[in-house]
Amino acid sequence: MIDLNRRGVVLAAGSAITLSAAGLPVMAATPDRKLGYAIVGLGGYGLGIIIPQFKNCQHSKLVALVSGDPVKARRVAAEYGVPERSIYDYKNFDSIKDNPDIDVVYVCLPVSMHAEYTIRAAAAGKHVMCEKPMAVSSAECEAMIAACKKAGKKLMIGYRCHFEPYNLEARRRARAGEIGKLRYFRSEHGFTAGNPNSWRLKKAMSGGGSLMDIGIYALNAARYMTAEEPVSVYAKETTDRNDPRFREVEDMIEFQLEFPSGVIASCMSMYSANQNHILLMGDKGRIDLEPGTRYDGNKLWVGQDRSTPVNPPPGPGATQWSGQLDHLSLCVINNKEPIVPGEEGLRDIRIIEAIYRSAREQKRIALT
Ligand code: NAD
Repeated sequence: MIDLNRRGVVLAAGSAITLSAAGLPVMAATPDRKLGYAIVGLGGYGLGIIIPQFKNCQHSKLVALVSGDPVKARRVAAEYGVPERSIYDYKNFDSIKDNPDIDVVYVCLPVSMHAEYTIRAAAAGKHVMCEKPMAVSSAECEAMIAACKKAGKKLMIGYRCHFEPYNLEARRRARAGEIGKLRYFRSEHGFTAGNPNSWRLKKAMSGGGSLMDIGIYALNAARYMTAEEPVSVYAKETTDRNDPRFREVEDMIEFQLEFPSGVIASCMSMYSANQNHILLMGDKGRIDLEPGTRYDGNKLWVGQDRSTPVNPPPGPGATQWSGQLDHLSLCVINNKEPIVPGEEGLRDIRIIEAIYRSAREQKRIALT
């Protein structure tokens, strides 16, 4: 985002400009301070992926930890320079309200805990970044949005692909008409689930199976690549209920989305095979991303020729995560709405609920 001031000087997003004694523009460092993040949940994603990303951020820093494991929390705090007084557990979490260093709470917990910690964070006067999928039900998503609105705080969902250069370039080229009129979209997303005791395979904690966790990437991509909202869904589930991993949640679910322009999205979500692919098929060509939504190593091709991958221009951040974190910080600083607010998470969960219903009732479900 750039802006021109009255003298025609280009301002970077969040920049404050003053004039020197000689009347020349002087860029103030922006913003004056980095926003402070409390990470809730020191698991694979919170600790393994998000915490190491603050070093790549310009507007965000790690200031607090929330964990049920005090030994781990102290070790992580020492490694990343978080003071002991800024270590919390799930019981004293609400006392974050008295810690002015914390601007944003980043919820990296099992899905069933997203609503509770988002609502408690908002009540403590903090902005919230919440991981995907937003919650186990659309009713919970609505309660989260209402709580943040009531507190006057921002709510953003951790849809990192909206800050990922390959996805941004694919979307830009599709919208610029490089493949003509889009006819269909296809995406397969899956990985092989392991431990049957993982919270991801417990319905009460996950809200559902592969669709909630990994198929949501295909669904969200269908929406951001087409820039349309689906009008109906049709889905079919295939799960071996004798497999100890899939006693409670689905393995494979195949779903079709119909968009107002006539574009059809055909998606496969699974917990029993590794696949990560996005295809946009237009009447003049194709855009392929394979893998499309990984942490790294994504690849992009435009046109029929798959021999020469496209190198996209850099994204908004040094990495997709620093772009994501700094986006929320700048939204707070500039009082703007995030590009992936709570309402974006709610839209996906409403469609996911319709997909599950379609699979159960074996019929097409119209979305209103
Ligand atoms: P994880 O199991 O590795 O970590 C979960 C954390 O929650 C752990 O620290 C665990 O101790 C804590 N926790 C607290 N109470 C718990 C309870 N009752 N049961 C289980 N764990 C409990 O999971 P993860 O992979 O870090 O996933 C956390 C969130 O991040 C999920 O919402 C997931 O969908 C999301 N995620 C997002 C991405 C992405 O690319 N955006 C990638 C991975 C995970």
